[in-house]
Amino acid sequence: MALISCANCGEDENLDGERVGETITITCAECGLVWDRDLTPTCTTCGSTEVRPAFQAIVDKSRGTQLSIQSMRLRYLCPECEPELLADYLASKSPLPPDELPY
Ligand SMILES: [Zn+2]
Ligand SMILES: [Zn+2]
Repeated sequence: MALISCANCGEDENLDGERVGETITITCAECGLVWDRDLTPTCTTCGSTEVRPAFQAIVDKSRGTQLSIQSMRLRYLCPECEPELLADYLASKSPLPPDELPY
């Protein structure tokens, strides 16, 4: 596990790994970042390896109706397939919104 470290806080020991199908999902116990252990990140659409890492918020409903960021996931954006998303991400300097909001 020594070769893995958290992209957000740099933690390299307090990490939890969980096998999900073909990949191993790592959760940082220090800051809550979630990412897939591998491998060369590639675009799932075009197969390009010229992808950029991006943090995506994982939100959950806390007590009441307020949505709060529970943790973050590391994902990759393809400049070819997701140029607008990537541009927005780089411009906003804040985590990507989640794919789905819990209602
Ligand atoms: Zn971390
Ligand atoms: Zn692509």
